[in-house]
Amino acid sequence: MILIDGKKAAVELREELKIEVSGLKSKYNKVPGLTVILIGGLAPSQIYVRNKEKSANEVGLKSDVIRYPDSVEEKTVLDKIYELNKDDSVSGILVQLPLPKHIDKQKVIEAILPSKDVDGFHPMNVGNLSSGYESSVPCTPLGCYLLIKKIEPNLSGKKAVIVGRSNLNGKPMTQLLLKENCTVTITHSKTKDLKGECLKGDIIVAAVGMPELVKGDWVKKDAIVIDVGINKTDKGIVGDVAFDEVSKVAKALTPVPGGVGPMTIACLLKNTIECFKRSQK
Ligand code: NAP
Repeated sequence: MILIDGKKAAVELREELKIEVSGLKSKYNKVPGLTVILIGGLAPSQIYVRNKEKSANEVGLKSDVIRYPDSVEEKTVLDKIYELNKDDSVSGILVQLPLPKHIDKQKVIEAILPSKDVDGFHPMNVGNLSSGYESSVPCTPLGCYLLIKKIEPNLSGKKAVIVGRSNLNGKPMTQLLLKENCTVTITHSKTKDLKGECLKGDIIVAAVGMPELVKGDWVKKDAIVIDVGINKTDKGIVGDVAFDEVSKVAKALTPVPGGVGPMTIACLLKNTIECFKRSQK
């Protein structure tokens, strides 16, 4: 069984991006810039944003974090986004989620210029992705996609089963694999016979949020299994896949932690660089 090392893949991707940024600096005499807006003091969000800033600096991007207290008015945030939309030194804007209840998440997402939407959440980017046009792709599914391609470069005709249909993970994952000519089944909480569906998959991507939902006898021999889940349990952090059982049947499997997670931030940097390059065309 191949243990898919997301940490190593993320280091390699960051190295490639660092070289690319250096080339862009020579060509344009400026570097891509990422601005993150962080609202409130939620500990996980603070940690994510610190890691994003550190990684952005490591690859040579210009990186800024704008911090607001929980009580900030929605209009203040929207006005800041409009200002950043017009700022040529800002290639990508990310508003760290979740937001306080009084701020309308969708309004904030739609305020970001689609060409600077590094999270790929703007409806324009969602539509472009599903139409097969150039777009920013949400970072976690993009990371999953790159890991799958490392194991199996030719995905044409493979049967992929996606467990979970969130806008963040399941739906964009479906589009990415469709584009690779996979036959994709997307499953969810109302799916009948989830085990039977999973058993048909040459590729399974689990993005549910239920500890060890996907069992060993749900997985076809030699399937590639990508575990997006992050679940806090009494035995520590586990994924949506029963690792010990599935590792006995799968051809390749991501661990949790150390699989999909590390690729997410690297893909955010990749998206920022892509936004910069498109803006220079
Ligand atoms: P979400 O928005 O809560 O969506 C969960 C999906 O799972 C829904 O589509 C839901 O179906 C489906 N589901 C729930 N119970 C199910 C069941 N028993 N059988 C089949 N499907 C079921 O979750 P998300 O934001 O996509 O996140 C999923 C997991 O990924 C979480 O553990 C999260 O922490 C993790 N995550 C990891 C990363 C990373 O970087 N590694 C990034 C983001 C998220 P319905 O649509 O029918 O409700």
